[in-house]
Amino acid sequence: MSIRVKLYMSYLAMVFVPFILMITFMVFIFFAGGIEDIRQYFDKEHNEPYRQALVYGELSYVLQNDTGKLEDEAYLNDIQKRLGELWAGHVISKNGVVIAVAPFLEEAAPGEDWQKLLDQPPAKVTFRKYHFETFKTVFNYPDGSTGTMVLFRRNDTVPIYWRPVSAAFSLTFIGLTSLLLTYFVSRSIIKPIKRLEAAALQIKDGDLSHKVVATTKGEIGQLSNAFEDMRVRLKHSIDQSLQYDENRKMLLSHISHDLKTPISAIKGYVEGIMDGIANTDEKRRRYMETIYRKATDMDQLIDELFLFSKLDLHKVAFDFKEIDITRYLEHFLEEQRFDLDKSGVALHYSSSDAKPLLIAADPDKLSRVLTNILNNCVKYMGDNTGSDSQDIKVSVKEQGAFILVEIEDTGPGIEEDDLPYIFDRFYRAEQSRNLETGGSGLGLAIVKQIIEGHGGIVWAENAEHGGARFCLKLPQSVAAKTVDVHEQHTDY
Ligand code: ADP
Repeated sequence: MSIRVKLYMSYLAMVFVPFILMITFMVFIFFAGGIEDIRQYFDKEHNEPYRQALVYGELSYVLQNDTGKLEDEAYLNDIQKRLGELWAGHVISKNGVVIAVAPFLEEAAPGEDWQKLLDQPPAKVTFRKYHFETFKTVFNYPDGSTGTMVLFRRNDTVPIYWRPVSAAFSLTFIGLTSLLLTYFVSRSIIKPIKRLEAAALQIKDGDLSHKVVATTKGEIGQLSNAFEDMRVRLKHSIDQSLQYDENRKMLLSHISHDLKTPISAIKGYVEGIMDGIANTDEKRRRYMETIYRKATDMDQLIDELFLFSKLDLHKVAFDFKEIDITRYLEHFLEEQRFDLDKSGVALHYSSSDAKPLLIAADPDKLSRVLTNILNNCVKYMGDNTGSDSQDIKVSVKEQGAFILVEIEDTGPGIEEDDLPYIFDRFYRAEQSRNLETGGSGLGLAIVKQIIEGHGGIVWAENAEHGGARFCLKLPQSVAAKTVDVHEQHTDY
């Protein structure tokens, strides 16, 4: 529930809950508690003023015109009874002496000094926890003696304690409701805010491992989710920057090592030439050729390093185009065929599908991937002296939503233990063998970065006959599934 709705509900509850509680309380007191007079008041109130008007009117008439009736016991009883039903009664005196007190009054205030009240009636008196007002009338009896009548009439329909009690209960109900509402509403707002505060403090102290779980759905829940997103992103970016730092350190150590080796060799050969150790033209030519080869290796290494570090930092922009991978491979392999022939390597290409297989790819980067893998195949097949023929088979096929390109050689294959690591930067299996073949250990790391940049995956395995097989799995272009194959125009 949102905070706004919660506040609206609590405002409404603040108005209605005490009201309902008060009504319930009153109903309980009136009916269950058995306060008969109040119950009667509520039952009879509507015709009481009329009945009062009749009785008081009659009394007024008797006092002015027919005072003899006040000495008639039967009439006196009757009117006293009727007055009593209206919570009223009178005290009558003759020649200053009390001669009649209404039974209602005797019952309401037993033991009261009626003579005193008759002589000096106060404006208000309290009988049986009710306020009564007094009216004094002086009249003459038919025999000429002076009479006084004091009428006591209840002027408040509820007991005297009722107003403070109901005010106190109203205040208690309002206070209780507001306390409970404040507690529940603030608990549902303050508790999650406290949790967020604790998480923020942890983040401030560099601890990003604690998950922030949204326990409510409203604004605070959304805030918690946004906070959790922020934490995850922050953690990711910190982890990434730590990883980059680690990579940089590794790169630096490998670069210094990999550059040191050819530079030492170049230095050695140049010293040989300077010191006259290369004393024949033939020797000098061989020294110069070695220096040139080492410098070329270094150049290549620096190029690869440059590309790899850019890929690693995601600073290389991919220029994706929709291409037909079967035609792209045909085209690319045709270009390689001549050079491979010269190295004594036979290239075979097969595609299981006649229809175009469309992928979104950066053709230049893809060519870099294929070149690196083919170069490795040639390099490691040349290293495999036991092999009869040197063949590279390239095949392409559709596999669900993906396109699978397989490149297989007839070289020595890859040690099972090395398979999980050969795509790691600077990983070279059998270091000694690689001294002969050379290589930066970055070729397959570049392949992996580029293929992952295409949303694909790459792995290596050993073919049944022992050679190495590289598998590239690339997602089919989404458009390829919707556009009619006959209408497609691609670069390749
Ligand atoms: P390198 O510059 O050493 O070739 P790569 O990253 O290109 O570095 O390859 C990593 C390792 O994978 C190589 O050192 C080699 O041991 C192994 N490898 C790669 N391609 C082949 C292959 N076709 N046959 C056998 N081993 C290979």
